[in-house]
Amino acid sequence: MARRRPSSLLVAWLAVVIPLLTLGVFAWRGIEAQADVIRREKQAEVDYEVKRSAKELSRRLQESVIEFKTFPDPPRPGSASAEDAILDGEDREALAALRDRPDAGLSPSGLPRRVLAALRLVDLDASSPESLSIEASKPLLRLVMDECPSVLTSVVIDKLLPASEPELTTWEERMEVAEMARRHPQGGLVPGDDYLWLETAGDRIRYVRTEAIARALGDLRGGNYQAWLTKEPDQNGGSSDAMFSSSAKVEMGDVENGRGFWLHMGFLVIPDLVIDGALRNQKKWAASLLGVAALVSFGGLFMLHRTLRRERQLNEMKSQFVASVSHELRAPVASIRLMADALEAGKVAPETAKEFHRLIAREGARLSTLVGNVLDHARIEQGRKVWKMESCDLTSLVADTVRVMEPIAQEKGITLKQELSPVEATADDDAIQQALVNLLDNAIKFSPQGSLVVIALEANEERGRWCLTVRDEGPGIPKDEQSRIFERFYRLGDELRRETQGTGIGLSLVKSIVEAHRGSVTVESEPGRGSTFTLTFPLSA
Ligand code: ADP
Repeated sequence: MARRRPSSLLVAWLAVVIPLLTLGVFAWRGIEAQADVIRREKQAEVDYEVKRSAKELSRRLQESVIEFKTFPDPPRPGSASAEDAILDGEDREALAALRDRPDAGLSPSGLPRRVLAALRLVDLDASSPESLSIEASKPLLRLVMDECPSVLTSVVIDKLLPASEPELTTWEERMEVAEMARRHPQGGLVPGDDYLWLETAGDRIRYVRTEAIARALGDLRGGNYQAWLTKEPDQNGGSSDAMFSSSAKVEMGDVENGRGFWLHMGFLVIPDLVIDGALRNQKKWAASLLGVAALVSFGGLFMLHRTLRRERQLNEMKSQFVASVSHELRAPVASIRLMADALEAGKVAPETAKEFHRLIAREGARLSTLVGNVLDHARIEQGRKVWKMESCDLTSLVADTVRVMEPIAQEKGITLKQELSPVEATADDDAIQQALVNLLDNAIKFSPQGSLVVIALEANEERGRWCLTVRDEGPGIPKDEQSRIFERFYRLGDELRRETQGTGIGLSLVKSIVEAHRGSVTVESEPGRGSTFTLTFPLSA
């Protein structure tokens, strides 16, 4: 039995540890599997998002392509007609007249002479009253830009309109692009900051500004992309693929013939990082849960372990109790029998016979206390004890009990001193007597020869309580044992107590009796300085 217990405890430990470990492993694997699914879902989401963004980018790039028409060089001086001579000259009056002639016709370069005259006038004299007002110039300017933009010179422009006019900005830009197109007749990606790509086809030029690409990219949702341009489809522009969870490229222009470019874009947010964050959180939660479960289980196991240990101790104490009760019963019964036999045979001297009678009475009293204790203990244990609460004169009860114990005390030369005040209360007088007998029995049993035991009884009407105190000059009880002495079968293990007779149920019975009266029992003691047991009861239990 004793050998099976630790193994059953081991089984209990294993029964907790193994499921917990299994639970932990499953939880971990579950989290990983879940993370895998989330990762795949996230990746699909990102791929979709990248494809969608690439499409959007492509659309925007196409939208940002600017296309315009180029024109022949501006008309040159020296043409034959008189009107063209006016245009070449500086005769303001003639120029004004020509400007105001709707039928002036076209110059040899195909430009309207009326327009050219007006522009020439503005060009000749900035402060000329003939200069066109801004309002008047707008339709003319538009006409010029659409039909013959190359005739505009910067001087003319400055005079005609403020530099911020969008038409003019566009026009200036086109002039620059046309110039670039002249320098790069092949088109394609061209060096420079502003105009990245251009394509010439006949008198038309198409181009895309860097700024337009940046804007198109900037508009992509979330700003999670990195983008770079290459001439080759597989160049990575210095970015490591590992940085991107997904990437796409957008084709622009004639990439096959090296006249276009690829715009690569990579999605910067790596799903793994997102997942890892979520995973870490989940793992943290799972770990805390498992931790709490482990703590609770181990706590439970610890309690179980303690209970088992207590149970074992109790069993041991019970066995000891049975042994001591048998001994306690056998010894007095044997001596009573011997003395009774001797008395019956009539061979005992009168003095000795008197002593035998006294001893028989004493052993009988001890036996009756012992049997009473054992029986009451059993009754209380089984909940069969019936308490007879009735009003009783405690002063007489205590005095009578002390008188009964007197002979035992005298044997050890112990003085029983009474300090009794009159107290009447509702109580079970037999039980109170039994409690006092147990306390006195201990006090006499453990005190040295010739010492003093004081029994005090007093009532406190105001607080509705009465107290019974037994104070001795015995060996005392260590602090850490004081709470345990009221446990069933508990006996202190030191030499003196082991040599003293006892069963370990006396004080536990005292406690049960006091509690049945809704009272309390306390002990004040210090090793070597005696002990004081105080029972406190309500006046009306
Ligand atoms: P027992 O039959 O051993 O007296 P009790 O329940 O009455 O059992 O007491 C429990 C233990 O408490 C005793 O074994 C003893 O060690 C200790 N004890 C009780 N009363 C006293 C006392 N007056 N002085 C010293 N120790 C005491």
